[in-house]
Amino acid sequence: MNADSNQRWFPNSMPAPMVDHHTLPWWEACAQHKLTAQRCTNCNHTQLPGSPICSECRGTDFEMTELNGKGTLYTYTAVHQPLTYEEKLPFFIVVIELDVSGTPCKNPVRLMSNIVDAEEEEFEIGKPVEVVWETFSEFVSVPRFKFVK
Ligand SMILES: [Zn+2]
Repeated sequence: MNADSNQRWFPNSMPAPMVDHHTLPWWEACAQHKLTAQRCTNCNHTQLPGSPICSECRGTDFEMTELNGKGTLYTYTAVHQPLTYEEKLPFFIVVIELDVSGTPCKNPVRLMSNIVDAEEEEFEIGKPVEVVWETFSEFVSVPRFKFVK
């Protein structure tokens, strides 16, 4: 757990993440503040979210590969209408292209998330980001991202 483990950016009224059999290993790693991606052990193709079949080779054997938590802003949108009460506006829905350097992963993967602690004028496609964790309970932590200062 890092120093940000008690930081919160979204209210408890936000719906909890949906978890299924194929995404459970990813969420379990998140609970330990480890950002991972599903990597096919046959061809090293990497995919998020987890899937029962590799989209490259149709393989069915996977490992969860831990990533370094860095990435770049791929795209974003600013939300000015609240989804739930108590929400700070605007908030930012983003797609992050995750850095897979230093891993056997064959391709970069993208993750939909949020940028936190930023103003709208700071947003720039390609800007470097790093993961921060928002802990909702012992079992649920959600990766958000901050711009690297
Ligand atoms: Zn494969």
